[in-house]
Amino acid sequence: MSSAVIDVPSQSVAVPGVVGSGLRVPLVTGGTANYANLDHAASAPCLSAVRDAVDELLPYYASVHRGAGFASQVCTRVYEGARQVLLDFAGARQGDEVVFTRNTTDALNLLASAVPRGTSVVVFDTVHHAALLPWRNVRRIPAPETPADAVAALDAALGECPEGPRLAVLTGACNVTGELWPVAELARVARRRGARTVLDAAQLAPHRPIRLAELDVDYAALSGHKLYAPFGAGALIGRADWLNAADPYLAGGGATRAVNERAVSWTTGPERHEAGSPNTVGVHALATACRTFATRWEGVVEHESSLLSRLRAGLAEIPGLRELSLFGTGHDRVGVVSFTIDGQDPGLIAAALSAEHAIGVRDGLFCAHLGTKNLLARAGADAERALRVSIGLGTTAEHVDRLVAALKSLVAEGP
Ligand code: PLP
Repeated sequence: MSSAVIDVPSQSVAVPGVVGSGLRVPLVTGGTANYANLDHAASAPCLSAVRDAVDELLPYYASVHRGAGFASQVCTRVYEGARQVLLDFAGARQGDEVVFTRNTTDALNLLASAVPRGTSVVVFDTVHHAALLPWRNVRRIPAPETPADAVAALDAALGECPEGPRLAVLTGACNVTGELWPVAELARVARRRGARTVLDAAQLAPHRPIRLAELDVDYAALSGHKLYAPFGAGALIGRADWLNAADPYLAGGGATRAVNERAVSWTTGPERHEAGSPNTVGVHALATACRTFATRWEGVVEHESSLLSRLRAGLAEIPGLRELSLFGTGHDRVGVVSFTIDGQDPGLIAAALSAEHAIGVRDGLFCAHLGTKNLLARAGADAERALRVSIGLGTTAEHVDRLVAALKSLVAEGP
């Protein structure tokens, strides 16, 4: 297949947008039929509703916050209206705010730049680099083996922190194994130790509600491109006080109240950290995806759970396959599974799945080098990287069955 605009590999063809039993969530996948995208954890295909919303906005494309014209007013309303959508989506508290960012990485770096001077930060070393690396004064907790270990280890680590502000960095769902962290329990011990919490919700947000207020978590970070919206928009959601007291994350237009020759007075509120012309289209797309998800959680969870069970049952039939797991293979998880196959190179398997079977998976250490290496060692794997399969709204039973059959045939061929 060829395209005037993009160089599409010849294998690609069109996938039906309707998936699962009773779940109708059309996706923009034209041009990729027969392609089994089993890499939703990296980036998810765009919802048709998101594309339609973007199309609807484009005729009004104009500056936000800066223009008096009609189109500017439309864009400003759309942009500002999206904040409430994100607050609702995250189950936030009254008074919480939403700062729009490029993605989760950007949101967590923003928070790292905004924590009060001297804040002690505690993070599990198994987490994604976006959650592991931005902090100063950080104490790393080794990979726990059970949810109870995780809670006890966080409690102990926070207990050793000096007096002063504390922040515990939590992850909603592991990007390597899909396993759900015990966020409510971790948030409880953090609160008891006088610490705030931030939830890396990059992998949780497309699969389960975030529930900030209910879980008593202070901040959440997420990415639009994992939530079936285009790249380039994400959010930090949570308590306003640290954000209003911090230096602006970006200095420039839109973040100022007044500037004269001698001084700058910075505004408070989310604009303090959003200098420059914002990504209105991306934010509108992100908000549309959040709105779409908010009405469909039950169907999403049911669809993904049934495909995940099918996937894991199929993988269990493959000789030498070792599934990676943080808390034990019976622990609840979203639709992500990483594994190795004895005697097989994960990179070669991933390449063969793509070239010979039109199946897209990921191999490597998944931007969680410490965590993935630990899990590989725990599994007794003979490889230094793993294969990751991640399902989502675009996944069908046929994709799962094709993957399992392809893996079986590749294993039968030998290394
Ligand atoms: N956190 C987790 C758990 C992730 O899986 C990812 C991306 O894979 C990130 C953070 C970073 O997300 P982004 O690349 O959108 O900033």
